[in-house]
Amino acid sequence: MSSEKSKKRGEAKSDADCTQYIQLHQLYLFAIFLLMKKIQILPENLANQIAAGEVVERPSSVIKELVENALDAGASEITVSVEEYGIKSIAVKDNGSGIGKDMLPIAMHRHATSKISTVDDLFSIHSFGFRGEALPSIASVSRFSIISRTEEEDSAWQISSEGGKHSSINPAARNIGTTIEVKDLFFNTPARLKFLKARRTEMEHIQDVVVRLALAHPKVSFKLVSDGDEVLRFGTAQGDLLEDALPRLASFMGRDFVNNAIALENERDGVTVRGFVSLPTFNLSTNRRQYMYVNNRPVKDKLLLGALKQSYHDLLHNGRHPAAVLFVDMPAEAVDVNVHPAKAEVRFKDGRDIFGLIRGTVRRALDEHSTEVSTTPAQQALERFEAGRLPNTPQQVQFASHESYTPSIQQSFMESTHQPRVMEMSAPVLRDEAMPEAPRFQEDAEAVREDHEDFPMGAAMAQIHGTYIVAQNKNGMIVVDQHAAHERLVYERFKKQILGGNVEMQALLIPEIVELSAADVERVMEREDELKSFGMEVEQFGPSAVTVRSTPAILGEVNPKKILLDIVEDIRDMKKETALQSSIEELLSTMACHGSIRANRKLSIDDMNAILRDMERTPNSAQCNHGRPTFVELKVPEIERLFGRR
Ligand code: ADP
Ligand code: MG
Repeated sequence: MSSEKSKKRGEAKSDADCTQYIQLHQLYLFAIFLLMKKIQILPENLANQIAAGEVVERPSSVIKELVENALDAGASEITVSVEEYGIKSIAVKDNGSGIGKDMLPIAMHRHATSKISTVDDLFSIHSFGFRGEALPSIASVSRFSIISRTEEEDSAWQISSEGGKHSSINPAARNIGTTIEVKDLFFNTPARLKFLKARRTEMEHIQDVVVRLALAHPKVSFKLVSDGDEVLRFGTAQGDLLEDALPRLASFMGRDFVNNAIALENERDGVTVRGFVSLPTFNLSTNRRQYMYVNNRPVKDKLLLGALKQSYHDLLHNGRHPAAVLFVDMPAEAVDVNVHPAKAEVRFKDGRDIFGLIRGTVRRALDEHSTEVSTTPAQQALERFEAGRLPNTPQQVQFASHESYTPSIQQSFMESTHQPRVMEMSAPVLRDEAMPEAPRFQEDAEAVREDHEDFPMGAAMAQIHGTYIVAQNKNGMIVVDQHAAHERLVYERFKKQILGGNVEMQALLIPEIVELSAADVERVMEREDELKSFGMEVEQFGPSAVTVRSTPAILGEVNPKKILLDIVEDIRDMKKETALQSSIEELLSTMACHGSIRANRKLSIDDMNAILRDMERTPNSAQCNHGRPTFVELKVPEIERLFGRR
């Protein structure tokens, strides 16, 4: 039927229509022809320059590629020299296997690599390089030369090129190994030059690249020379042990990090994770100090960074970040490194397992060291003590041993924004009590003290300003912020109850009516059951109020209205379908804050000792829920230093 119709229509077509159709068709073919003419295979040098756009972003990326090549060639000594932050020249010299005379021109070709030969190899990469892209890319945007000599050759050979145009091969002089020199980077692509940052920034990138690679290769010695000055030098370490990385780590991450880092090592199903993470009290405002390696390759991987973040989730306030250096090793087949132009990202076969391994390992390490507190606040405290007496007693300045403390203190001031609560005593609130009682003689006080002194947190000696507990242990003295510490204790205990599903509730004698907006009433009532599992029993009371019937017993006597209002704040930002359990940390810290001993509350020696013992038993008691320290320790030698006895 339909074909019949079209036939009829075809018959009806006039000659003019036909001519028009043919003309259109010709035009169409011509257009295709024109387009086809535009598709062509780019000259190799242009292709190299395009690749260079991805691989060679700045001088430091050249250095990364060349140093990686040297490491792939098995070098044990690598020297990087730059002039004018790498723009005038970069030279990377190694004592690796070298490139034979015949291979020199080939090495400079695109897709020329000695590191893989089949597709299978691509999924089992054991070297840094494998794309055969770096040398031709770099050569295409610079004046480039390779001098190299292999074990088999009597002399070295040199090949050079300018903007990718090769010269002949000439004899040269050097020992076994390779020197690659890159001069006038981007001389033929001036637009690229414009993208470079200030000299200092570029130099930082360069140092960063060298140190990142050096950290993962303790057995290789590295040197970085800038305009004739040696900027970095790493001698070779004895072995592959984690401790062997420490000297390099200290010069890279700062001694402060090393002093506040926990070493960790774990293995599961052929995947190992090793490295260092900072104590939660040593935290920073950015995550830039988190260095991750996969099979010794420096990466910026979201999954790894995410796992690290998760391990600290309830130990750090939002916006604060730990520092870490983590090496993750696994069979080459378990990871795809060919997913990013600069190979800075990778893809794991079993991402979820690796996430779990890292989160679990880091968290366990943190829990094991949970009663340790960063040394930084104590050092800051010392600094403050010293600064405090400068105006009145100038002679004593000489005794204060600034030499040994100043560098790390300055560094920690720069790096961290700890607010050592201990030092915030500027506004003591007077207690509304009469004259202090004369201390009564207590026979057993001495015995009690001796009993407690052997514990890490020591024996309570006094409470000052109704806010701080001063204790004495075998090493020196400890000052505890009672509110911060107690908040953490309540939090951890409460969390245990909630996770165990056995929260004790305390019924209010007189239920409290709390007025809320209608929307908030709805929000609260939607979560009636969930709130009950947190120990809060609520009931609707008209369109714009709820009644609080009970509160979590662990919090002791709390103001039911205030705690409910705070909970409303927390759940207001949450999506309806998100379970309260998934924000358990946030909700718990809100609630724990209500249940903890406030500042300005008088405590007996027994109360204080109980808190100290509790802190020793409680995981993560060294910092409050906001990542601030709950105590600082001053060791006797540090106290002696304060008085110029040392
Ligand atoms: P890839 O590293 O991906 O193989 P490159 O372009 O970086 O590609 O290097 C090409 C080849 O040149 C390498 O496969 C290697 O054989 C050789 N080569 C480069 N640099 C060195 C070096 N420093 N020592 C020995 N051989 C090198
Ligand atoms: Mg390479």
